[in-house]
Amino acid sequence: QSQARSLLVATPNTPSNSRFTETLAVERALHTALERREFFLVYQPQMDLRTGVIVGAESLLRWQHPTWGLVSPVRFIPLLESLGLISDVGQWVLEDACRQARRWEQMGLALRVGINLSPRQFLEPDLFDKIQRAVVLSGVNPAHIELEITESLAMQDPANAILLLGRLRETGLKIALDDFGIGHSSLEYLLRFPIDAIKIDRAFVTNITHVQADRVIVRAVTAIGQTMGLSVIAEGVETLRQCDFIEALGVTEIQGYLIGKPMESAQIETLIANFVRP
Ligand code: C2E
Ligand code: CA
Ligand code: CA
Ligand code: CA
Repeated sequence: QSQARSLLVATPNTPSNSRFTETLAVERALHTALERREFFLVYQPQMDLRTGVIVGAESLLRWQHPTWGLVSPVRFIPLLESLGLISDVGQWVLEDACRQARRWEQMGLALRVGINLSPRQFLEPDLFDKIQRAVVLSGVNPAHIELEITESLAMQDPANAILLLGRLRETGLKIALDDFGIGHSSLEYLLRFPIDAIKIDRAFVTNITHVQADRVIVRAVTAIGQTMGLSVIAEGVETLRQCDFIEALGVTEIQGYLIGKPMESAQIETLIANFVRP
């Protein structure tokens, strides 16, 4: 909050003044959003291209403000980070998603649930214990939880990241490298990270039907991933044509509007019950 106030003081009469005021109001509201239960998780389905079965669901955070309505995570997650609130909200996400994964287990649905970790969370010294806490509290089988981390955050301190990821995997948790391809990745490090899956960023999927360079990248990444025994999932698949191209390049799973938009947990259950591969 003090950081936001100093921003406001530093630029008292700029045209963007109202934007600062707006940001301040959002920041103030974020401080109470958790206790007011304004956060909730939606889930986006993931399909295995080889079987046509829904095999996973990524949890995505939503903020429903009483008067502003639904606020995009792209907008409020950076604010949670700068306000130092991401740790508490991130812990709530971990616990709520693990609880949901456990409920699905109990319903007999073998769904892997993806959970996003923010860069700030990843750098916390007690992250391992916090994740353990969420898993143990819920009683979920750790093999049904996939932690999504981004290359940029893993790259800051590769040696430490490799250690932490290794410890997490030893407990049975899965690790996915999110937004793959858009960071400044060192291929050498990537190959040394103990991970289970690569999520190819939507940026490479959007134009896959007409940009050859994107196809070349996706094919190469998929080949590397498969050589290393990783699952390769393409994000942001919206059309059947994109799906066909993606499948021809060897990708094993897709996530995107073609299969389903992020939805409430009950809708995931309905989708699975009636699912027919598009
Ligand atoms: P992400 O982890 O890359 O999540 C995928 C985003 O792409 C989601 O946006 C999803 O709704 C969107 N998407 C999925 N399929 C399609 C598609 O076919 N077309 C298009 N145009 N978009 C698609 P969302 O839910 O707005 O989340 C945005 C970002 O916010 C996420 O990107 C992630 O970085 C962050 N985020 C969301 N939930 C959490 C969370 O619980 N914790 C943390 N740390 N970050 C989160
Ligand atoms: Ca993600
Ligand atoms: Ca992503
Ligand atoms: Ca992204």
